[in-house]
Amino acid sequence: MNNSSDTQARIAERPPWESHEFRVKTLDSAGTGGARLGFSCRNCGRKFAQTPATRRTWAVNDAGLALDDAVTDRWLDESCLRHPGATDDDDRKLLRRTLRV
Ligand SMILES: [Zn+2]
Repeated sequence: MNNSSDTQARIAERPPWESHEFRVKTLDSAGTGGARLGFSCRNCGRKFAQTPATRRTWAVNDAGLALDDAVTDRWLDESCLRHPGATDDDDRKLLRRTLRV
């Protein structure tokens, strides 16, 4: 037993998304008619893309390719680890198969 429960309770009050230290940049989505935003966390290195018009957000790998929905769901549900997760490299190999237009 240690005294970490206080800290954990405080972290848990914040939405997972807000626990990350995101750098945001506008991605060039050539020809698709809509700007996208790229989020990359300077602490854990996870990256997300978002369509501002729909607020749809998904996990991407370092090349900007969409990851499997299961990875997106998990990453959006987890608070920032403050360091790269042990399975993140494996997660980045799980690309989304179904292309949605
Ligand atoms: Zn993070």
